[in-house]
Amino acid sequence: MAKILLIASGKGGTGKTTVSSNLGHALANEGKRVLLIDTDSGFKGLDLALGVSERVVFSFLDVINQNATAKDAMVQPENAPNLYLISAPFHPLTEAVSFKQVSEFVASLFNKFDFIIIDCSAGFSLETSYFAKLAHVGIVVATPDEISLRNADKMNDLLIDSGLTNNFLILNRVRPKLIVQNKASNIDYAMDITYLPLLGVITEDIGIIECQNAGKSVFEKAKIPSKQAFTNIAKRVLGKQIPIMDMK
Ligand code: ADP
Ligand code: MG
Repeated sequence: MAKILLIASGKGGTGKTTVSSNLGHALANEGKRVLLIDTDSGFKGLDLALGVSERVVFSFLDVINQNATAKDAMVQPENAPNLYLISAPFHPLTEAVSFKQVSEFVASLFNKFDFIIIDCSAGFSLETSYFAKLAHVGIVVATPDEISLRNADKMNDLLIDSGLTNNFLILNRVRPKLIVQNKASNIDYAMDITYLPLLGVITEDIGIIECQNAGKSVFEKAKIPSKQAFTNIAKRVLGKQIPIMDMK
């Protein structure tokens, strides 16, 4: 039975798609069967991050509307036998699609994977409200600045209102130098503002941008400093005790 991880944020551009794709690869590298579902309808990007956009034909909405089977809609990145993607539709969902339909779609996949990772849009879309009700773990991705942290706190409240209470924070694009100089929020402060336990810290890394633009994971290129951060996050998701690096 799959554990469903919802990757969300209040503010846009915090790194949800980056976390979804690389965490998906990291868990698949640990031998887990992983399905990524892009629910950022209208603004999808996970297909590009995974390097499969040329092969995507159907979306999760096509599966819900029975225009395609889930198998038809799944695409796999190269050299990733355990990792699958179902992409988002070109337009945001409307209330014409019910929660029951979305929940039946997810239930049909439940026994086939160890993890289902939901890459959300920023804020609280209809898609996020539906998938939050089905998820077991919420992962809020924020950058270490006041606006992003306040919005992460708000996002956590909205997830809790939807019944998703097992929520964590990933702090992304951290620049240790700025923390040392007291010019950026530190990790303890981020946890205080958001009331969220920390699942991981990812430093600012131009290698991530290069990989994402090439449709590759950080694991497919040499010398990407943030690689270990994604491996550690995957291990924590698997229940292992891995200490967070200290940057204060
Ligand atoms: P979201 O899905 O939250 O909108 P993305 O994952 O698409 O955000 O990331 C937005 C941009 O930030 C992308 O260009 C991505 O490559 C870049 N990015 C994300 N995380 C990092 C990081 N740790 N270091 C450098 N660039 C990053
Ligand atoms: Mg995104």
